[in-house]
Amino acid sequence: MTLISFDIDGTMIFGSPPGTIGLDTVRRAKELGYLIGSASDRPIGNQEELWRTHGITVDFVSLKHHLPQIKDRFPATRYLHIGDTWMDQHFAKLAGFQFLYVHEVPGDEPGSWVF
Ligand SMILES: [Mg+2]
Repeated sequence: MTLISFDIDGTMIFGSPPGTIGLDTVRRAKELGYLIGSASDRPIGNQEELWRTHGITVDFVSLKHHLPQIKDRFPATRYLHIGDTWMDQHFAKLAGFQFLYVHEVPGDEPGSWVF
């Protein structure tokens, strides 16, 4: 089981500023059976509303510095956080997540970058 945490601002297409991760990428990850959600500095309720607005049911929403709690909640074999800043990288590493910069994620083909 792979768990992917997406930052929102600068990472997701609906972030502010918009990033390059589209909804198709997230849907594809769900199709592959991945656990998915967001870890952002935005308030939890706001993150939930954004996902709801875009028609995606996520497994979790989290504050960025609470990634360790996500790891505790969801047993998985791989934990990955995708974000656009060194803060994302910092908190991902602290939590024992792998980290990818959003610019390292090619297009809407998550299968191509996860494996
Ligand atoms: Mg960001």
